[in-house]
Amino acid sequence: MKKSSSCILLIISILFFQIQGSGQSAECVTDHIHNNLMQTDSFYRKQILFLESQVDARIQKQSNGILKSTIYSIPVVVHVIHLGESIGTGTNISDLQIQQAITGLNSRFRNGNGLGVDVELEFCLASKDPSGNSTKGINRVNGSSIPNYSVNGITPTGNTCSGAVETTIKDLSKWPVSNYYNIWVVSKICNGGFVGYASYPVGGLYDGLVIVSTSMTSTSGTLPHEIGHGFFLYHTFNGDGGNVSCPVDTNCLINGDRVCDTPPHKQGDCGTTNTCPSTGAWDNSRYNYMSYCPLVNRFTQGQKDRIRATVMVAPRASLLTSLGCGAVGMNEISSNNKFFIFPNPAQSIINIKADIKLLGSAYVVYDNTGKTILKGIINSEDTIIDLGNLSAGIYLFSIGDSLKQTFKVIKE
Ligand SMILES: [Zn+2]
Repeated sequence: MKKSSSCILLIISILFFQIQGSGQSAECVTDHIHNNLMQTDSFYRKQILFLESQVDARIQKQSNGILKSTIYSIPVVVHVIHLGESIGTGTNISDLQIQQAITGLNSRFRNGNGLGVDVELEFCLASKDPSGNSTKGINRVNGSSIPNYSVNGITPTGNTCSGAVETTIKDLSKWPVSNYYNIWVVSKICNGGFVGYASYPVGGLYDGLVIVSTSMTSTSGTLPHEIGHGFFLYHTFNGDGGNVSCPVDTNCLINGDRVCDTPPHKQGDCGTTNTCPSTGAWDNSRYNYMSYCPLVNRFTQGQKDRIRATVMVAPRASLLTSLGCGAVGMNEISSNNKFFIFPNPAQSIINIKADIKLLGSAYVVYDNTGKTILKGIINSEDTIIDLGNLSAGIYLFSIGDSLKQTFKVIKE
């Protein structure tokens, strides 16, 4: 009896999820994948728990005022896995649509409507590919020959729907996740069952976000929602058991979405009253990009703190020092084993370990306006540079012959 009740509940919640996924703008299958991995993959579970502890520590630092405000920019590459249409037709969406989608995404993260909080995080389509060549940050691949893709689209790993294998689709086009945030635009997910999903930030070859072509638009709530997951935000209704019960709310830092200014609720509750006994600003949840509610228009300060803590730790921190949106002609330190710098981000001291052949080479540190802040000579295989007097922010280092080796350093 008990078992059959559970089964019925499970079926009801799956049906609800799938119906929601086909009709609304911001529903995703991220949690299904995440919950499955948390139960079946002990390594993944350890990674998430470790990341949680790091993010918590960072949030604490931020609340102590140690981490100053800087606008971070994340290089993005968009892979359009189309069905063979000409550019601008069907699933092969135009460059303009993609550019406008990124503009819309940035408007949401920068609080363009004034209704939420400016996360001070932006996304830029890559200007430089992994080989250092000029790019629009958009790759197009015809995926119609991949089994099941034309009819059913992609199947997220761990899901049983009859689409194409996720890794096969992503292998068609992917850039290194350490330097680019990858977005795959697909025809369908599970034959139309869902509109998007993203990996929580644990890294790996296939890290990134999958979104259906019809949701990759300037007005869609799906893109900010999925990017939110990609930067470690949970749903505002996290822990509701699939709209079954009010999430536990004993300690807002570790229960529900682990954010304190988004009152926990059931995913179906979007009206004027929260049926769960949570205090706090109800509008922060029912109008939140991380809800499933029909009208979404904000991120909150608590979510901003969590996102900004996440970008400061691995694996997302490497995106901050990527030159994926930098000028063509600059060579990145990561592509040259003659240098090794640590730590980055740095609070004051950074160490440069340089190949002996480079002793005597110059280095210059620029701020984000291009002004020279520091300069010197690499006079040892272990050179120490003191950034203690600089303001918090992102700095550009040029080093070596003709100052052509360039990298970014984050000063906390
Ligand atoms: Zn979601």
